[in-house]
Order: sequence, then C-alpha cells, then structure tokens
Amino acid sequence: MLNDIKEVLFSEEEISERCKELASEIEACYKETGATPLVLALLKGSIPFMAELIKRFTIPVELEFMSVSSYSGVASTGDVKINKDMDVSCRGRSILLVEDIIDTGRTIKQVVQLLYDRGAEDVKIVALLDKKEGRVVECEADYVGFDIPNAFVVGYGLDYNQKYRNLPFVGVLKEEVYS
Ligand code: 5GP
Repeated sequence: MLNDIKEVLFSEEEISERCKELASEIEACYKETGATPLVLALLKGSIPFMAELIKRFTIPVELEFMSVSSYSGVASTGDVKINKDMDVSCRGRSILLVEDIIDTGRTIKQVVQLLYDRGAEDVKIVALLDKKEGRVVECEADYVGFDIPNAFVVGYGLDYNQKYRNLPFVGVLKEEVYS
C-alpha cells in the first residue's frame, strides 16, 4: 500500500493532536447546553476519526452509526443512498455528525436534512478533512480537522475501492493507481 502513496499529508500524531483540540472545542459547546450528544458516525470512513475523537471527550456521549454512499471510484455521483440506518430515534436529540471528508457537500447536506426531518433538535458537523474547492452545494462543517486541496486522499478510514482504510495516516493516492 505504501508504494501507492504520493505524499503523506497528516501523520497519526498530527491527527491525534488535532482530535484533542477538536474534542475540547466541541465539548465546551455541549457543556453549555447540558445536552448528551448522539455521536453519529457515517460508515465506514469516519470510524478511525470517531474512535480518536470520542476518547478525548470528558462528557458522556452516545454512539450511533449510519451508512450512506455517494461515491463510486474517485468521483461523486451526487446520489446519496442509505445502506444502513441508525438504530435509535434522533427526535429531540443533539447530534454530532462525524464525517471523514467533505467534498461536494452533497452527502452531509442530505444527511443533515434527513436528521432534521426526523425531528433532531440540533445537528453539528465535525469533519476530519474539508476539500472546500470541491463544494457544489452550500454546506459548512461546524468543526474541521484539516482543510485540504482538491486531491484524492486515502488512509485513516478513507478508501479507494475499499483499500487503504487501515493506513494510520492521510495521504494522497498516486494518480496511476486509479487512472
Ligand atoms: P461529498 O458528498 O461531500 O462529495 O462526498 C463525501 C464522501 O465522498 C466522503 O464521505 C467520502 O466517502 C468520499 N470522498 C470525497 N473525497 C474523497 C477523497 O479524497 N478520498 C476518499 N477516499 N473519499 C472521498
């Protein structure tokens, strides 16, 4: 796998440090409201990020998972499909939606809308990575780990055709791997 990586963007240590900062910012907000957030991870890519983040919270949180898909290969299709839904109701809940990366913004925007339609009280977004250049719909994360340029990245949960998720860092995939 390592031979397929053009450049490492963020090491495991850098991600861990950033997660500490994010968790303290995020929990300050929930301490103010007194809400116990339902931390909702979008499978599968956001699992390593969620795991790193929740260890840093000192407030109680609940965990939930949902699987949606919008990508086939390296380009966004624009269609968001629910493959696995969450197990509990989000009515009246404060939800912290955990996403690995925001690109066009379509996925997260549709999921946020769905959660509000189902009666969520409040939805906040935390994304490990943000490709702002890729945005085609209006959508901003409340908390972002790192802004990145418009390149296809893998590792730390992010895949290319299900591979590379277990790399401990975020790196740019060599173009020859997918072209
Ligand atoms: P969006 O709907 O914002 O265009 O896409 C979000 C989803 O697309 C992410 O959850 C992720 O699965 C996928 N995605 C977007 N950019 C990348 C990328 O650079 N690398 C990988 N592996 N997936 C990406």
